[in-house]
Amino acid sequence: MSNFSIVGHGVVGTTVGIALRKRQRRTHTVTDPNDTFSAHKGGVGIGEYQYLKGPTKGPLRDLDMRRLNHDCLRIWHGLESDPSWQGIVSRKSVTYFSKDPDLGDDNLRECLPEQNAERLTAAQLPEHLREAGFVLADRFDTSVFDTNKACLKLRNDYRQLGGSLEQRVVRSYDEVPGDGVIIDTTGLGRRMFLGDRRIWAKRGQTLILRGKHGLTEVLGAPGKVLSINLVPLDENTLLIGASKEVNDYNTEADVDTREALRRAAELIWPAVKNLTFVEDRVRFRPMYENVIVETHRWNGRKVILVNGLGGGGWSNCFSLAEEVANLALAVAA
Ligand SMILES: Cc1cc2nc3c(=O)[nH]c(=O)nc-3n(C[C@H](O)[C@H](O)[C@H](O)COP(=O)(O)OP(=O)(O)OC[C@H]3O[C@@H](n4cnc5c(N)ncnc54)[C@H](O)[C@@H]3O)c2cc1C
Repeated sequence: MSNFSIVGHGVVGTTVGIALRKRQRRTHTVTDPNDTFSAHKGGVGIGEYQYLKGPTKGPLRDLDMRRLNHDCLRIWHGLESDPSWQGIVSRKSVTYFSKDPDLGDDNLRECLPEQNAERLTAAQLPEHLREAGFVLADRFDTSVFDTNKACLKLRNDYRQLGGSLEQRVVRSYDEVPGDGVIIDTTGLGRRMFLGDRRIWAKRGQTLILRGKHGLTEVLGAPGKVLSINLVPLDENTLLIGASKEVNDYNTEADVDTREALRRAAELIWPAVKNLTFVEDRVRFRPMYENVIVETHRWNGRKVILVNGLGGGGWSNCFSLAEEVANLALAVAA
């Protein structure tokens, strides 16, 4: 039975740990107790039908990312009816609006979400959005999840399956206990703690508001600097996010960004004006030009590096974890 040391207990680290524990392999995870530069908590939590660019070199360079994405979303859809995932993931409609005039808005009215907010009914929404300069861009049904709860659930599952955990920041692979394969899943921590300058951040600030918002579906206006997604976490809690600051490593919430998110959300759904501010969340998408899956050696130990999931880690995690677990077994053999 091989021994695997996983560094990082975020989206990739937890799902790979679970996949290896399900194969009865010994796993030990070391992770930053403060999650200072992580992406997973505070995310938006939409199962996106959008595939990332796959590894261009290394053992998984032929990975079919479209299949990976679809397989992962199928797993999420299955979890919607799993009692242990109740209150964490559910099927929702996602309606994206755009300010791009070329997209046209002919079927805007037909595609409206069936809901009523206190200050704006579904029947009033098309006109309101047109006045605010939005047109319909896309509408689809998918799994929408609370990323904080999903992360907690995956971490509990890992421990219940017998995976061990240590809370500590790793600054060199020399500090990783054990003598088996190291699986580095540190996201942006790879740059900030381990000095790999290839990985850069797209900072994401989100906002949590409390009060009766009247939304049962996701409304969003994707953009380059701000993507305004209104995600109902429950009937009294609304998440709005997120910003997309390139190469910004500031862990503190920015008040202007908070106000910009809120103002834009009010344009889409005016009931937002009545909600009470609860908290800001600041997270970091770990960026590279493609998903990285590399194998290295470090002082006689084998290392697998998985990174570059950017803004799509949740939408690919379960199927990617299977691929990485299979690779880890092959590397350890
Ligand atoms: C605002 C926002 C919204 C998002 N929305 C979505 C979405 O709707 N759908 C979607 O699919 N994806 C979304 N994502 C993307 C998703 O969260 C990331 O792709 C995913 O979290 C990346 O997974 P990872 O395991 O590589 O990194 P992370 O999840 O960041 O995990 C890295 C882990 O390593 C730990 N760590 C780092 N360095 C060290 C170290 N040196 N020593 C020990 N531990 C360390 C960290 O604390 C963390 O636990 C969003 C991200 C953000 C920021």
